[in-house]
Amino acid sequence: MIRNAEPISSEQIQEPYYEPVGQEIEVFYKAAEHMLPLLLKGPTGTGKSRLLETMAYRLNRRLITVICNEETSSVDLVGRYIVKGADTVWQDGPLTIGVREGAIVYLDEVAEARPDVLVAIHSLTDHRRSLFIDRTNEEIVANKNFLLVASFNPGYQRGFKELKPSTRQRFLSIDFQYPKPTVESKIIMGETKIDERISSKLVQFANLVRNKPELGLAETISTRLLVSCALLIQSGLGPRLAGRTAIILPLTDDSDTIESLQDVYNLIF
Ligand code: ADP
Repeated sequence: MIRNAEPISSEQIQEPYYEPVGQEIEVFYKAAEHMLPLLLKGPTGTGKSRLLETMAYRLNRRLITVICNEETSSVDLVGRYIVKGADTVWQDGPLTIGVREGAIVYLDEVAEARPDVLVAIHSLTDHRRSLFIDRTNEEIVANKNFLLVASFNPGYQRGFKELKPSTRQRFLSIDFQYPKPTVESKIIMGETKIDERISSKLVQFANLVRNKPELGLAETISTRLLVSCALLIQSGLGPRLAGRTAIILPLTDDSDTIESLQDVYNLIF
């Protein structure tokens, strides 16, 4: 059976490369110090997961990531009974494991999950810091190193669900936006070792497109797409083909939009 929300558990051997965009590292340390849940708000590909990996490394905690989708339920997070031979045994889910051992549990795109997920994390997001497992009738008080982090893509983009204000108020929030051009160019260089002339052109293109809502893109150009494009250029692909493959076609299927994007891109490259 394919299970929803299969967790990804990561332990980094080396500190990941992360370029601060604002004061998010400082705020993250404070959230961890006060054991307060944290919500990372912002579009995809803006460094949220990378920040998590970096902070897990710095705080020396395991990072357990659950990518939520519309099928993700509290059972996927908390745990379930499974049949083992002749027995039925309880198996902790990723959230329960993190609560017990003191990991950072990252619920990516939490608003996409089923409503019972928000019910399950309720008592973990206030002074109780406890998880109640109704199936086993157990209440677990979270290890002091447990930290709950969720991400959420605000609803100004089509197709994304909203989070209720009462839920949002349970989290500290960090707002992720596209970095300033100099910082974004530095990130691209840091990730790909491409020279500044190219990275700044990619950023210039991205900012031209980000400022054109009339293109009607569901998601605009993220740092992730720019990094992929720079990798292709760095490994010898022509810049125009790299841009088409890594940025333009992943963004849209509409032929007029593809053409408009390619025209703007070709002016720069
Ligand atoms: P998100 O979790 O917001 O969808 P990621 O953290 O996966 O985004 O970032 C996507 C990619 O963009 C990363 O793999 C990395 O190459 C690059 N990136 C974005 N922001 C940063 C940053 N601040 N520092 C380093 N790399 C970044």
